[in-house]
Amino acid sequence: MQRKGALGLLRDHNRGMVVNLLRTRGPMSRTELAHLTGLAPSAITRFARDLLAEGIAREVGKTRSNGGRRAVLLAFNPTYAHVIGVKVERERVLAARVDLAGRIARRWEAPLPTPPTPDEVFSLVRNAFQRLARGRILGVGVAISGFVDAHGVDLYSPILGWHNVAVGEPLADRLGLPVRVENDVNALALAECWYGAGRRFRNFVCITVGEGIGAGVVIAGELYRGAFGGAGEVGHMTIDPAGPRCRCGEQGCLEVFASDWFLAAEAERLGHPGIPSLVASARSGDASAREAFALMGRYLGIGAKNVVNLLNPEAIVLGGERMTDADLFLPALEEEVRHHAFPETARELAIVPAELGPDGFLIGAATLVTAEAFRSPMERTG
Ligand SMILES: [Zn+2]
Repeated sequence: MQRKGALGLLRDHNRGMVVNLLRTRGPMSRTELAHLTGLAPSAITRFARDLLAEGIAREVGKTRSNGGRRAVLLAFNPTYAHVIGVKVERERVLAARVDLAGRIARRWEAPLPTPPTPDEVFSLVRNAFQRLARGRILGVGVAISGFVDAHGVDLYSPILGWHNVAVGEPLADRLGLPVRVENDVNALALAECWYGAGRRFRNFVCITVGEGIGAGVVIAGELYRGAFGGAGEVGHMTIDPAGPRCRCGEQGCLEVFASDWFLAAEAERLGHPGIPSLVASARSGDASAREAFALMGRYLGIGAKNVVNLLNPEAIVLGGERMTDADLFLPALEEEVRHHAFPETARELAIVPAELGPDGFLIGAATLVTAEAFRSPMERTG
C-alpha cells in the first residue's frame, strides 16, 4: 500500500540513483550523471528523456563554456508532486500542502474539541485533505504527540488522552493514499535533518523546549525510533528521584526542572503573575528572575550532557516555543555541557538553534512521505 505512490517516482534502483542525484546535488549535466552513477551514457539519455517527459526533471540552462560544447543542465522539479503534512495538536489540526523541497504551498487549520476523539481527528484530516490536495499527491504524513509504533498506532499519548489508537490505517482507508504517522518531535527532527539546521550533520539530537521537553534522534542521517517509537524521551530522564512529581507520574524528571512547568512555578514563587512577567523581569536585569532561567538552562544542560555522553552526536539542535527566550538560558546550558560532558565528546559538539520554527512540524510530517518516496526500492521499509 505504501509503495504505490513512491514507485512511480523511482521505479528501479538505477533510475532512483539519477532522481536522487538531481534532487540532492543538481542541477547537473548528463555527462556528470553518467560519471557519478557509473551508468552508461545511453542509459542516462534514456532516464533523462523519461524524467523530462514525466515532468520529474527539467532543463535549466547550460554548463559554462570552457572551450568545448556547452552541456544542458538537468534539475529535479520539486513541484512535480506534493505531500499533505498534518500536525494533530490537543486543540487544533494544522495541515499544509508541501512540495518535494519542503516548501509550504498552502495551509489549513481547524479547531478540535478537547480532548479529541480519533474519529473527530480523522474527519478533520479528511477535510484538510479535500481543501489542500491539488495535482499529484504522494501521500499524507501525520505528526502527533505520543509513542507511535511502526504501523502508525499511537500507543500512548498523555496530551490527547489516547491509548492504542490506530491512526495510519483508518486514515489510509479514508483517503485512499499512503499515510505515515510519527511522533511530532521525531517529525520535527526529520524536517531539520532534510531542510534545516541538521543538514550539516549526520548525527544530531533535536531537543524541544516549551510546555514539555522532547527529543528526536538522528543517527547516520536517519531518524532513530527505538523498538516502538519511544526513543528520545529526554524530558523524562530522572534528574532528582526525590524531586517534584512529573505529569508522567514519576518524580524529578528533566521536564519538571526545565520546561514551562518549571518557569511557571518559579514565576509564582517570585510573585509574578506568569511566565511573560518573569521573562520581562529577567530582561530588565532582575537577579532572581535571571537566576530562575540560569537554573533552567543548567538543568537542560544536564539533560543534554547525558544525551551527549550516550550518543556522541555532532550537534544538539534546539527548538520549541521557549527558544524565543533562549538568550536567558542558553549560556547556562552551554556552560554545563561544555564543562561537564566528557571533553572528547563536547569539544566538537555544535549547539545550534533549529531553523524551521513552528513550520518544522508540518514540513517534517510531509517529509515522512517524501523520505520514503526517495528511498531506493531496495531499501524501502514498507
Ligand atoms: Zn516525567
